[in-house]
Amino acid sequence: MSQRNQAATSQAAAAAPIPQNLAVRIAVISDIHANLYALEAVFAEIERDPPDEIWCLGDTVGYGPRPNECCALVQERSSLVLVGNHDLVALGSADVTVEDFNPEAAAASIWTSSELSPGSREFLSSLAPQAEREGAALFHGSPSDPVWDYVITDLAAEEAFALTQASLILVGHSHVPTALALADDVVQGGVASTGFEADLGPGRWLLNPGSVGQPRDGDARAAYLRLDLGLRQASFERVAYSVDRTQAEIRERGLPDALADRLALGV
Ligand code: ZN
Repeated sequence: MSQRNQAATSQAAAAAPIPQNLAVRIAVISDIHANLYALEAVFAEIERDPPDEIWCLGDTVGYGPRPNECCALVQERSSLVLVGNHDLVALGSADVTVEDFNPEAAAASIWTSSELSPGSREFLSSLAPQAEREGAALFHGSPSDPVWDYVITDLAAEEAFALTQASLILVGHSHVPTALALADDVVQGGVASTGFEADLGPGRWLLNPGSVGQPRDGDARAAYLRLDLGLRQASFERVAYSVDRTQAEIRERGLPDALADRLALGV
């Protein structure tokens, strides 16, 4: 068989029905920010209806009081994990510095950096800020800057669709659950309310699961996303957790009070 024929055969295979062994049902988490009680609550909820895989879009640490426990749990449970800007700052990676943060984030980052175990460092250092899966492109931030850019405007979403081919783009970083569809070159949609279910159909979508450990849409509950890539459906989920316990640990560790206060408000 010529190389060209081989390529044609593999393209035909790609267009065939989804293979049995491909992950179809996915739980997507992001921006855990060392909030262990939120993460445990989300994993417990996910386990009630176990997906094929769990994907994490990054920022496992930063802000919160339990960086090492969150690294261990995310590493153990997730099939795919991205690195986020807070993870990179805590690692002391080049090009990403604490000066890019506001004072609370910077203080937490310096504390996180001193707390990270060798195992957590090794885990976070092994990760990239973007990845690809069958039909899906994943970024912590955005396609134009996977580490730092936010997709929070229609313009940024248009750019994200233009820079990728994937029918489904997954991003984290903004901490706001978002569902945007591209229809006739126009971006539609916005913040995804709790329980929002999107029929992805044959179109192109950009989804943000929201944040497990520091939601910023006015809802204090931990956020995550369920996907069924076979049925082309997405549903935005929320899980209540013990905000008080995380707040108490933030204060015990001498992290900025504002980081505890905001968790109760979901801002
Ligand atoms: Zn984040």
